[in-house]
Amino acid sequence: MACSRPVPHFSRPSIIALYLLVVAIFTAAVGWVSLRDGLDRLAERGAADLSLSSGRLTGELQRYRELAVFFADHPTLMPLARVNKGGDPAADALLLAAADRTGSDRIELVGRNGQVLASSRRDSGIRAHQGIPVFLQHALNGTIGFAHMIDPTTNRRMFIYAAPVFASSGPVLAAITIRLDVETVEAASRGEVETSFFTDSEGVVFVSNRDELVLRAQQLHQTSTPSVPPDQIQAFPPLTEYTIAGHSLWAIKAGPYLPDLALHLTRPLPVIAMRGEILLDAAPVLQTALMQAATAAALCLIFGAALLTVSERRRMLAQRLGVEARLNAELEERVAARTRELTSAQANLIRAGKLSALGQMSAGLSHELNQPLMAIRSYAENAAAFIERGKPQAAADNLLQISDLARRMGRIIRNLRAFARQEVEGFADVDLVAAVAAVLEITQPRMRQESVTLDYAAPDQRVMVRGGEVRLQQVVLNLIANALDAMKDQRSARLSLRIETEGDRVRLYLRDSGPGIAEPDRMFDPFYSTKAVGSAEGMGLGLSISYAIIDSFGGAISGRNAAGGGAEFCVELARAQAKQEP
Ligand code: ADP
Repeated sequence: MACSRPVPHFSRPSIIALYLLVVAIFTAAVGWVSLRDGLDRLAERGAADLSLSSGRLTGELQRYRELAVFFADHPTLMPLARVNKGGDPAADALLLAAADRTGSDRIELVGRNGQVLASSRRDSGIRAHQGIPVFLQHALNGTIGFAHMIDPTTNRRMFIYAAPVFASSGPVLAAITIRLDVETVEAASRGEVETSFFTDSEGVVFVSNRDELVLRAQQLHQTSTPSVPPDQIQAFPPLTEYTIAGHSLWAIKAGPYLPDLALHLTRPLPVIAMRGEILLDAAPVLQTALMQAATAAALCLIFGAALLTVSERRRMLAQRLGVEARLNAELEERVAARTRELTSAQANLIRAGKLSALGQMSAGLSHELNQPLMAIRSYAENAAAFIERGKPQAAADNLLQISDLARRMGRIIRNLRAFARQEVEGFADVDLVAAVAAVLEITQPRMRQESVTLDYAAPDQRVMVRGGEVRLQQVVLNLIANALDAMKDQRSARLSLRIETEGDRVRLYLRDSGPGIAEPDRMFDPFYSTKAVGSAEGMGLGLSISYAIIDSFGGAISGRNAAGGGAEFCVELARAQAKQEP
């Protein structure tokens, strides 16, 4: 036998909880994917922005580097360098003009010992550097020096390039230094949307388009010769760093001009020994991710709610159908019970009806049989008395009366025996023409006596029908006897008989010229009779018995008042299917 695996059954709350869990996981996944993609795109854009601002800074610085190199072999400066002495106003004027044109803070020609030979600053005069800084040393050694620093007098941030001035014979005679104010470089990038800044190797933000970050350090790498004096360095605004999908995110509190949540990108700038950094506002990405997650969650929840509603409806419907089915079953059971009661009541009624019919019948029978019996008794006593007195003729008359009465009693009993016969006689193919002929033979004497004209053209062939021979004769006899009874007091009495065949039906029509049927609706009722009770004919059983007999043959009997007067009866029978004998 195939056995099915048991279906696990989950309760409603656990299904809902499971669904919510799935929705939560799905929502988180949608949010995560959106956040990751958003950060990837932001990082791409940020890298491009950072590359742009780094390029701008290095490009700008490159210009000043080239300017330093340009002045390194300038004819006005070379003589001063050669003699290692300053004091040439023409040289100072040249450098001033150049500084003004290029926006440099200061351009100087510095001698081998660090003394200034010519300067763009009129007030500077000839003064010696305190010691020789590393960048200048580089220049005096024949390479280009570069440095950033805070001007000790003005406290401004400066970039410095130093280029060597070579003698035609080869050695370095002096150096050209160009100082550049960082703020002039920054000015161009002030209005940028994104926050960018450049951190030196000591960890100090030296250039930025946001003042809030300038000269601030996250982690200071102190050296013996710091570019920025430690007392000028401030702490970096407080921040928390997160790493999400491989991106660094800063949650930072640094005023309205910096994003609170920022994507942080860096890029090394070895040319100027700094690191370029950029902060991009990550809030929109986060908002988009949250929005998409919320939308996904809302759609899932709406879908889930719809699903829940539908399943709830179906459950209610199933419940209602269940209730209806139960009510129907109850109703059917009640109907069945009622039907049983009615059936038994009906059976009782039928039984009662049968008993009452039996009672009526016995009353009628006892009356019918008792009367002639009483008469027979008195005729017999009379006959005996006449014989005693020697009057045989009178006695014979009485005996004749007795004989008549006995015949009448026999007729009554014959009627009743029809019931018994009906039970035993089977079905056969019966010739209707022969049955009619047999009945006519019996009734012929009476018809002659009562001057009844017979109007009947007997078919010259047999007309076979389904039925029982004796019972069929009894029906025909009943109908003819009724017709003769009806026409008893008439002068010109006429009885018409007709046999018709139509398809598989055969009809026998009997029409008389009597007064017609008094109550056509009642004439088939048992014991219905318009004839005098006690007369030989009036039992009221003839038609009802005939009806039952023809009905048992599968036929029908009907009677009506004919249009031209008199009664017309029709007996319809099933035609026998068997082959007819010739
Ligand atoms: P009964 O002949 O004993 O009265 P039936 O059942 O044979 O009983 O007939 C019932 C009644 O039907 C008759 O009493 C009579 O009123 C009516 N009836 C039957 N045949 C005819 C007929 N041919 N013409 C007029 N009435 C008829």
